[in-house]
Amino acid sequence: MPGDPTAPDPYSEAKARLILELRRGGVTDDAVLDAIEQTPRELFVPETFRGHAYDNAALPISQGQTISQPLIVGMMSQALKLDRRCKVLEIGTGSGYQAVVLSHLCRRVYTIERWKPLLRQAEAVFHALHRGNIHTRFGDGMKGWPEQAPFDRIMVTAAAEEVPPALFEQLKPGGILVAPIGRPLDQDPLGAQTLKRFTKGADGGVAVEDLGGVRFVPLKPGTEN
Ligand code: SAH
Repeated sequence: MPGDPTAPDPYSEAKARLILELRRGGVTDDAVLDAIEQTPRELFVPETFRGHAYDNAALPISQGQTISQPLIVGMMSQALKLDRRCKVLEIGTGSGYQAVVLSHLCRRVYTIERWKPLLRQAEAVFHALHRGNIHTRFGDGMKGWPEQAPFDRIMVTAAAEEVPPALFEQLKPGGILVAPIGRPLDQDPLGAQTLKRFTKGADGGVAVEDLGGVRFVPLKPGTEN
């Protein structure tokens, strides 16, 4: 957990290298790069992987899930075109890393996870990092969070063949949703998924853009204790 703020950061070199790599990889938004720089990724990975916390790689967390690759966290955060007033919904809390990055870029983050132990662990890190603007829910994110809707932005961090309709319904007109679309990794190990950005028009119509290939664990219905 974060200790003495004046102590030297043992990860500072690895972190600087990662930021450079993300910039080269296409993350050009300085606010997004700052948010990544401020987020101690070592707190979100299992202890045995701490030495790899600033590698530009997805890493395993518990329950067979993964913490996303930093480049993808950066690209997805940038794709949302966030501003400080945004109310953001994230589906798939996982380690909580993406939620903390988002929490530096917007007003409030609402994040939903279907695995209870993962959510409890992420909540402990949010607390330790004093991220008072992150709100959590144990549940099936395919249903969204109707009590808090509508949202300015929605990020789905698990793959599905299509966006659950409830999420479009809970997106404000003019809002943006990003999601990996395609066959889940467990059904198609080659993982043909595309990151897509959906922009909802004032008339309720939706424009779609392809942002490149990605590999995510599947979006699944229901919850697990
Ligand atoms: N954003 C995470 C990475 C997520 S991995 C991070 O920064 O670490 C995808 C996560 O989505 C997994 O934890 C998985 O359990 C969760 N998930 C899959 N389907 C879900 C659903 N229907 N509702 C909520 N969470 C879901």
